[in-house]
Amino acid sequence: MRNLSRLWETGTKVGFVPTMGYLHTGHLSLVAKSNQDCDITIVSIFVNPAQFGVNEDLSSYPRDLDRDLAMLSHYRVDYVFFPTEAMMYPEGFKTWIEVDKLSSILCGASRPGHFKGVATVLAKLVNIVNPDLMFMGEKDYQQCIVLETMLRDLNFHTRIVRCPIVREKDGLAMSSRNKYLSKTERKNALCLSQALKLAMELYRKGETKPDAVKSQMAELINKADGKIDYIAFVNQDTLQSVKKITPDTRVLLAVLVGKTRLIDNSAIC
Ligand code: AMP
Repeated sequence: MRNLSRLWETGTKVGFVPTMGYLHTGHLSLVAKSNQDCDITIVSIFVNPAQFGVNEDLSSYPRDLDRDLAMLSHYRVDYVFFPTEAMMYPEGFKTWIEVDKLSSILCGASRPGHFKGVATVLAKLVNIVNPDLMFMGEKDYQQCIVLETMLRDLNFHTRIVRCPIVREKDGLAMSSRNKYLSKTERKNALCLSQALKLAMELYRKGETKPDAVKSQMAELINKADGKIDYIAFVNQDTLQSVKKITPDTRVLLAVLVGKTRLIDNSAIC
């Protein structure tokens, strides 16, 4: 991949879609956008062990390369890069990237080390693939901000194109982890998107106090048996908590449904 990417011709726009595989329509929307905006599209599939905590789901994370390749065959994908763990982290690997502050809040607070793993693997992938544009989903909103900061701070030429969250018909944000949900949990999982909708409705009715909105969201989530990790109202660029909800606010949440940790977020408008 590295040998190929050194030879991208000047003027060829190269698009990159990094994924952990077990693809769904959300991933494919990123591929479609890259097809639209770029001359070449590369998709990577790599379940990155460095971004999983010790008690997390690395070993059970769904994997099916043949299925993924079949799904990608409907798009114009020039290369699929699926390195092994040994290729990405050979013996003696010692270098890690930390994006200060942004990595230890929200998801980073409950998943210590997660964004260190994400930033490191993405820096490696960007070095290997050498893309102009990297297509990433707003589903992982904090990840977009962390990686935009890393690319800027380390003088990479690659820029991120943020793409909207793709949802199931009933509102659940698509995720490879939705596969873990039992029938009842799948129903309960709707509480995330419903809570975001409620936040929007309350704001439209004039409520601008985060705590007032949070408590109503929490009530809805608790009723659906969801265990709240966090509900946060933050500035959409800095991820800092806000005291008043404005059009620049983003609401983010993480909820355990059964044993599955789900995340979702939305702009407030
Ligand atoms: P993952 O395979 O979970 O690491 O995700 C790979 C990329 O797909 C990331 O940029 C995610 O934000 C994006 N993605 C995952 N789910 C969705 C979704 N429902 N809508 C849009 N993008 C998504």
